[in-house]
Amino acid sequence: MPVASQGTIKTLIPEELKDINVNIILSNTYHLYLRPGVDVIQKLGGLHRFMAWDGPILTDSGGYQVFSHRDLRRIDEEGVHFRSHLDGSPHFLTPEGVVDIQNALGSDIAMVFDECTPYPCSHVDAQKSMELSMRWARRCRERWRLSDDGSRALFGIVQGSVYPELRRRSVEELLKLDFPGMAIGGLSVGEPRDEMFEVLEATLPLLPSDRPRYLMGVGTPQDLIRAVALGVDMFDCVLPTRNARNGCLFTSQGRILIKNAIYAEDESPPDPECSCGTCRRYSRAYLRHLFLAGEHLSAVLNTQHNVSFYLDMMKKIREFIEFNSYGKWLHLADKALE
Ligand SMILES: [Zn+2]
Repeated sequence: MPVASQGTIKTLIPEELKDINVNIILSNTYHLYLRPGVDVIQKLGGLHRFMAWDGPILTDSGGYQVFSHRDLRRIDEEGVHFRSHLDGSPHFLTPEGVVDIQNALGSDIAMVFDECTPYPCSHVDAQKSMELSMRWARRCRERWRLSDDGSRALFGIVQGSVYPELRRRSVEELLKLDFPGMAIGGLSVGEPRDEMFEVLEATLPLLPSDRPRYLMGVGTPQDLIRAVALGVDMFDCVLPTRNARNGCLFTSQGRILIKNAIYAEDESPPDPECSCGTCRRYSRAYLRHLFLAGEHLSAVLNTQHNVSFYLDMMKKIREFIEFNSYGKWLHLADKALE
C-alpha cells in the first residue's frame, strides 16, 4: 500500500493510480483528524469522495504518530492526551474515539488504537505497553461491533517490542477477539534488521493462515521479499515515495541516486526492466537534470517509477507464489538487489 498520509500519495494524481496498479492505499487518521478535520471530510461524503479515489482505503489508527511526538503527549488507561504538532491545540484520543473517526472517514480497513513502543524498550516497559494495547484492542473491537455490517474490516495489531514471548501473548489476546486480519506493529522503529526478522519468524506462525497478515511500516524491497517468505501478505511504507522525492530510485538492479554524475549523459531509462510511464519515456540524464534543477516534475516522475517498481515487484511475487517457484526467485532477487 502506497502511503497517502494527507489523503494524497504525494505528487500522484488519484485518477492515474490505477494505471500503475495501485489497488489500495493507506491514509492517516492522525493527520486527517488534525487537518482538515474529520467533520469536514464526513460532511463532504467521506474520504473516498473527498480525495476522488474509489478504491479501498486502509487507515492507520494514529497511534504511531501520536506516540512519535514524545514530548507532546500523556497516556493513561482511558486514552492519550496530546498536543497538535500543527498549532499546539490540546486533544484527547480514546480507542473508541479512534474507531469512530475511522468510521466517519469511511475506511475500508480500520486499525485498532495501540501504543507503539520505541526501540530500545525494556522488557518491563514493553510488557506494560503491550498489555495496555491489548485492553485498547478489546475496546476498539467492542466499539466496532456496534456499527459492523460486514462490509468493512477492523484489524488487530500485535505488539510486544522485540520480545518473542510478549509477541506470543499479544497474539493470544488478539485471537480471542477474532479480528478478520492481523497486523504486526512496533517493528522497523530502529531495531537491527536481524532482530526484526527474528521477531517475525517467531510471531508469524502464530497468526491465522486464512486471514491477511500485515507488517506495518516495512520496508525496503529486500525486506518485503524476505517477509513474504515468512508469510506476510500486506505492507505499507513511505520509502518508495519519500526516496523518490530525494532522488533515490529503486530498480531491479538495486538503488540508484539520480544526482550522481555518472548519469549526466545516460540515455537509458531508470530501470530497463520497468514498464512504467517514466521508464518508457525518460532517460536517467533527464531525471538527473530535473532533480538538480529542483523541478517539481522530478518528484512526480521519480514517484511514479518507485511506486510502480514496488507494485510490480509484489505482482511478480504473487505470480511466483502461484506457480510454486517463490523459493527459487527469492534467492535471485535478493542477490540482484544487494
Ligand atoms: Zn519505471
